[in-house]
Order: sequence, then C-alpha cells, then structure tokens
Amino acid sequence: MNEFELIRQYFMPLARLYDSRSVVLGPGDDCAVQRVLPGSELVFSIDTLVEGVHFPLNYRPDYLGWRALAVAASDLAAMGADPACFTLALTLPEADEAWLCDFACGLGKAAESFGLVLAGGDTTRGPLVLSLQVHGLAPIGAAIRRSGAKPGDLVVVSGTLGDAGAALGYLDSLSPSKDEAYVLERYHHPEPRLTLGAALRSLASAAIDVSDGLLADLGHILEASSVGASIESARVPVSPALTRLKGPEAQEYALRTGDDYELCATIPEARWADAPSSLKHQLTVIGVIEQTPGLRLDGTAVVSESGAAGFDHFRRKA
Ligand code: ADP
Ligand code: MG
Repeated sequence: MNEFELIRQYFMPLARLYDSRSVVLGPGDDCAVQRVLPGSELVFSIDTLVEGVHFPLNYRPDYLGWRALAVAASDLAAMGADPACFTLALTLPEADEAWLCDFACGLGKAAESFGLVLAGGDTTRGPLVLSLQVHGLAPIGAAIRRSGAKPGDLVVVSGTLGDAGAALGYLDSLSPSKDEAYVLERYHHPEPRLTLGAALRSLASAAIDVSDGLLADLGHILEASSVGASIESARVPVSPALTRLKGPEAQEYALRTGDDYELCATIPEARWADAPSSLKHQLTVIGVIEQTPGLRLDGTAVVSESGAAGFDHFRRKA
C-alpha cells in the first residue's frame, strides 16, 4: 500500500465524518482551508507524541488515536476555544494495516466526540511519532489566557485529579481490579473539557489544563499572572476509586501527577457567586489567589512549583 492509498483509505473517511461549518476544504489539496468569520479569532496549538516517551511502546493503536487527539484538544478547552478542526502529521515505521485501521478508528471516535474535523496532514516513514495541530475559534479577545489571575480570585478545578497518574502503575496489569480499571480508563480515554472551557470564557480570569500535575500547572498561571496562591490539599477532588487504591497517598497523586486533562481556572469571587449551578457542579474551589508570589499548600510554601513538581523533558538530573 502506498502513501496515497493509505491516506485515502484510513484518513480521508475521518474528514467526511460529519459536516463542518468551518472547514471549507479538507485533505487532498496542497492546503486545507478554514473559514474564520468576522468577530472570531483562530486559537491553535500543536502537540507531539513520541512512542516510549508520551505513550508506552506497543500501546494499543485505538487508544493512541483517542488519547493523541484528547491531549491536543485539551489545550483548546483550557483557552475556552470552540473546537473546529485538526491536522495530523504521522510518522510510521511501516504501513501495518491492522494497526492503521485501529488507530484511525480511535482517532475517528475522538474526532466525532470532540467536534474536531480532520482537515489534512502529512504521512512519513520513521520511528512512531504523531503531531496534531488543533484549531479552535473564540470571539475576539475572549480566549482565556494564563496571565489574568488577580488576588482574591478563587482557584477551581474540574472533575477529579490523580487517577491517570495512578494508572501508570497498572498499565501492565493483566487482570485489573474494578478500581484499577477505572483509573486506567481515565488514562486511556481522557475527556478534554471543551464545553466547560467554553463556558468559562465569561467567568474565568485565567485557565490551564492539568497535563503535568496540579501544582506544576497552577504554578504556570501564578508565574504568568505575577501572583501567588494558597491551596488546601483536603479540598482537591479525588475519585472514590483512587482513595480506595491509594489511601492517604491519593492526595499526593492528585497534587503532583498529570495526564488527567482536567481544567484549573481562577474566577473572581463575585462572578463565582453569580455562576449558574450547572457550572458550579462541575468545579471544586480549592484555594485563592494572593498577592504574595509563590504557592502555599496548607500554609506551607511549595518549593519551585513549576518545573520541580511536574514533567519537564529538558530538566537536568541532579
Ligand atoms: P504535499 O506534498 O503537497 O504536502 P502530501 O502528499 O503531504 O501533499 O499530502 C497530500 C494530501 O493528503 C494533503 O491534502 C494532506 O493534507 C493529506 N494528508 C496527508 N497525510 C495525511 C494524514 N495523515 N491525515 C490526513 N490527511 C493527510
Ligand atoms: Mg506534505
């Protein structure tokens, strides 16, 4: 099977999964064309996943397809952008049709679920690496940045944290328990909080998705906003499954491990008071933004919250 047959068979069908108001021209030409209506801004981001670094060797291809798009789409959620389309640069060691079929299936399910149309891509041979560029749209000036947090704003997070981080310990488990299966599912099939992110546009002063760990990612907001924060560890939401699996250690997973792709946002108190209860139900208040720089956890300073606590590819070993 040559490159063009491969693209036609496995990836073109994803471009036709459903109509898009935004993609005017999909795969097949030299470029894709996306329509951006007056009043909107294009919000875009690229993420690369390397086999053995961002996902395990011989990882299930259908899971990989879902996870790759979910991770990329989570950045759109963090900005409050409405999902539009994506491109896929795929480097493959070989054209393994069974692998491609499963990969395209997982990717297609994610694309449909998140409302992202495949608009084009690039296919090359080499070690297994994926780059996905996602495009979203937001009203002019409305995309939520990391830099808007102000003293007095509440710090909130969505869902529960720490599940996917704990799942890393069970990836090779042949017969996972019910709780292990729950956290594994959180790792394999993250749900980017796109609807919530868009709803936060009119509420949040800053936001980020929790990819590296709450302390590290909140640290990025604090740095970009030139503020500090106090967090109460007991308020950080943890799933019943994680509590049963890890006991008192569950809180550490929730604070320091990533891969859950929940959102962390800051919200002015008055706006939070007026927020619709449907939105409040999806978020937990865990602390408050303060003028004093640095992150305080239960009153104790967290040392070098950005970098030290999370994942950094180029960090030197001590
Ligand atoms: P060019 O050489 O002009 O860059 P390519 O041969 O790379 O064109 O790609 C041909 C067409 O196939 C393009 O429209 C491109 O967007 C599409 N394409 C290539 N790889 C993929 C892929 N993995 N997924 C979706 N579309 C793809
Ligand atoms: Mg090309």
